[in-house]
Amino acid sequence: MIIDLRSDTVTKPSKGMLEAIMNAKVGDDVYKEDETVNALETEIAKLFGKPKALFFPSGTMANQTAIKLHTNPGDQVICDKYAHIFNYEGGGASFNSGVSCKLIDGYRGMFTAQQVEAALNPPDFYHSPLTRLVEIENTTNKGGGACWDFEEIKKIRQVCDTNNLGFHLDGARLWNALVAKNETPKQYGDVFDTISVCLSKGLGCPIGSVLVGDEAIMEHAIRIRKILGGGMRQVGFLAAAGLYALENNIERLQDDHQKAKDIASVLQAQSYVNTVEPVETNIVIFSLNEGISESDFIESLDKKGVKIIALGAGKVRIVTHLDYTDAMHKQFLKILKAL
Ligand SMILES: *Cc1c(COP(=O)(O)O)cnc(C)c1O
Repeated sequence: MIIDLRSDTVTKPSKGMLEAIMNAKVGDDVYKEDETVNALETEIAKLFGKPKALFFPSGTMANQTAIKLHTNPGDQVICDKYAHIFNYEGGGASFNSGVSCKLIDGYRGMFTAQQVEAALNPPDFYHSPLTRLVEIENTTNKGGGACWDFEEIKKIRQVCDTNNLGFHLDGARLWNALVAKNETPKQYGDVFDTISVCLSKGLGCPIGSVLVGDEAIMEHAIRIRKILGGGMRQVGFLAAAGLYALENNIERLQDDHQKAKDIASVLQAQSYVNTVEPVETNIVIFSLNEGISESDFIESLDKKGVKIIALGAGKVRIVTHLDYTDAMHKQFLKILKAL
């Protein structure tokens, strides 16, 4: 039995999902003739109360498209130092949109409206890049699956309104935040101009992200997607997986969160563990005691059939997901206690 806890992207389509894929009605989505893609886009737009949604092959492409829609070359994007768009999208913000990122030194990938105000460049000070966009991530990936306080998000919206800035949410794991905090997609739709959500993380699809947004800003989204090579043909097979996941795989995220909390409390009690970051959703980040190397630790787990990854800076990460079964969970906790 291999217990793969490197990411919630390692899941494989379930039997029910495969059936949905096999039975999908498809067409050429570049002509917008794929009825399953159209149904998925309509469904997600409705969930968020937004007029437009567009299906993407990856979360990276959805985020990169959003950045392009909000900015012109030379502009600046405000985000956290842990942001996925800054750390894990291959430098795409500068490559695709010609923008720079102003990094906020936040707490677990989150920051305050006050910090946004301090980070933005006054538009008439032409020596500095023009601040155009504020981007946040919920849940935060490098921040250990932390969930934002919605009140702070609303305050940031006000700063964006006052200063004529766009507001984009990287919601790769927004589903986890919604379940953990008992929030709704609609309330997020109300405060953000654009939101990207992943279907291939906690929801268990093989591929797929969706970008939702207001009419005016989404007008050119399909052109940007085409330029980035994301116009796909009979892609309803993948959209069918997305529709299946929306129906079946959101509420069960609770289980992943509970398992992550169990893992954290077992880790906390082990002599080799230094600190465990607070667990709110499905990500556990911890550090080892001095003198224990992360690579040795990861290797010793690997020998027992458990895969996890190092995050750098002395941190190790575990992510729970829908293919991490109760039996695996029992086995893994036993392994951790015996190490
Ligand atoms: C995974 C992830 C993405 C998108 O990643 P893809 O692998 O391109 O789908 C974006 N933002 C965050 C926070 C993520 O964790």
